[in-house]
Amino acid sequence: MMVKDPCPSCEVYDICGGRCLFVNKQRLWGQEGFDKVCDTVKHMISALQTETSTVRQLMKSGVISVDSFIYPEFNNGCEIIP
Ligand code: SF4
Repeated sequence: MMVKDPCPSCEVYDICGGRCLFVNKQRLWGQEGFDKVCDTVKHMISALQTETSTVRQLMKSGVISVDSFIYPEFNNGCEIIP
């Protein structure tokens, strides 16, 4: 199942991947709802990026294992927001 526009041309597609496939396909909440979901995704990406150096340091010092970030490719339903 392919993700439709606007995801493939989104500036965070390489990170998000259009993960909320349910919203992408169903559009039950119209454009406004879709935009709100995207806002949450973009906010989370931004918040996580501010912690990148801290996380790298914790991994380097052995406090956090890289295995902690393994996420199953197929975990549950189609509504998966990263
Ligand atoms: S942020 Fe929204 S538009 Fe961008 S890739 Fe993710 S779901 Fe698609």
